[in-house]
Amino acid sequence: MDYRSTRGSRSDSLNSAEAVIQGLAPDGGLYVPVNFPTPTINLAEISKLTYKETAKLVLSWFFNDYSDEQLDESIRAAYGSQFDDDEIVPVTKETAGSHYMELFHGPTLAFKDIALQMLPHLMVNAVKLTNVNRKIVILTATSGDTGTASMNGFRDVDGTQVIVFYPNGGVSPVQLQQMLTQQGDNLEVVAIDGNFDQAQTEVKRIFNDSELEKNLKLSGSQFSSANSMNIGRLMPQVAYYFYTYGKLVRDGTVKLGNAINFTVPTGNFGDILAGYYAKKMGLPINKLICASNQNNVLTDFFTTGTYNKNRDFYLTNSPSMDIVVSSNLERLLFDLANEDSNQIKKLMNELTNDGQYTISDDMKTRLDTNFDAGFASETAIKAEIKRVYETAKYTIDPHTAVASAVAREYQQRTGDKTPMVVVATASPYKFPETVYEGITGKQVVEPGYAAVGQLFDITGDLVPAPIKTLFELEPHKQVVVKPEKMEEFILKIVK
Ligand SMILES: *Cc1c(COP(=O)(O)O)cnc(C)c1O
Repeated sequence: MDYRSTRGSRSDSLNSAEAVIQGLAPDGGLYVPVNFPTPTINLAEISKLTYKETAKLVLSWFFNDYSDEQLDESIRAAYGSQFDDDEIVPVTKETAGSHYMELFHGPTLAFKDIALQMLPHLMVNAVKLTNVNRKIVILTATSGDTGTASMNGFRDVDGTQVIVFYPNGGVSPVQLQQMLTQQGDNLEVVAIDGNFDQAQTEVKRIFNDSELEKNLKLSGSQFSSANSMNIGRLMPQVAYYFYTYGKLVRDGTVKLGNAINFTVPTGNFGDILAGYYAKKMGLPINKLICASNQNNVLTDFFTTGTYNKNRDFYLTNSPSMDIVVSSNLERLLFDLANEDSNQIKKLMNELTNDGQYTISDDMKTRLDTNFDAGFASETAIKAEIKRVYETAKYTIDPHTAVASAVAREYQQRTGDKTPMVVVATASPYKFPETVYEGITGKQVVEPGYAAVGQLFDITGDLVPAPIKTLFELEPHKQVVVKPEKMEEFILKIVK
């Protein structure tokens, strides 16, 4: 399986192991398969598979230069007892109108674990496959969850170093405590005096600085990425769409071959893109519904065909979705433009120079066939947490609530009766303050651990083990740097 850049030519390609190490293409584009896999999909067979078996199938499509043993061993290690549910990805029966695909049963309680428990294994094997004898320095911009999940996954992995940048004041108390208590000699975490977009833009710039890259290689290191720009992070996410379909077939909700819908709480567009790839490979998905919070640049894009990043940035109670420039949208555009990289280059230049671009009518038509979109305000999010709790005694986190509210609005607006799966991306205990307020209408007495206790007192939901011990750990002192000082900071660590 070869990969190429969305902004480069077909012939300029590398294999999957090389693409995992590279992370981001040197021309600023993202890696995509040169020939998208077209496996013969046997849904009847797929719907009998466990999560690990489904992951094996999907990974073998996208990473076929890894050996069978490498993939088997990686899957065994990635999806073991660090998940608190044997199913890895449990899916609820219909609950307040939707099925909830629970992606938050891993060690850091958000969906990032599904891919970031896997990525270190793909990375270590890629180093073996390509004979790269350099230390891999993983630069990670996080809107809250990727940082902790990548540090958890890469903790003390030989030959790797992780540097995480998170927005100062832009993450929840639990997220902050998680980041500041990570143990591991190869982990660094620093706050940025800015938002996620500034951190991501600066990381991308540093990546594409060829002078810096040369110097780094001379000192025996090389950058890579744990953001969903990396195929090693993105592709493992395709598996849960297949798995969930199979699960709904098994429990009799869906007749084999009939379509389902997914509503995905979206920030950097990685999760929903994985769903689009599943559809592209033949999974019967009717609509993928892109759900945003108050940072609703994507809702406007799906409605009008114009992406405009010149807008206010809001800090919300679903901080992992506080993003204005969604990186992975570039991969979707590439597909909608029939893999015409010149057109992608043009659109991305417009985004850099004018802050906006408009896609062609053809692209817009293809977009409308596959997607719908909506957003939820802060008030609507809390109301949805309350509605789902009161209707079904089911507790959802604010990100899941964004998707849940948008799914409901979509169903009411369109009358579409296709079974709906809401992608549940985080444990409610990761955001106890907002969840408590949603259910009771009252503020918690104190954020953080006390809020976890207050939420438990009203719901009685099992508190995940990682949360119980989290606040016993002494947090490191927070380090804050300005975006323009990120490069200096990185060099100090790498040297
Ligand atoms: C990262 C994240 C999202 C957004 O996912 P993208 O792949 O960035 O679109 C949604 N919810 C939670 C809880 C997250 O951590």
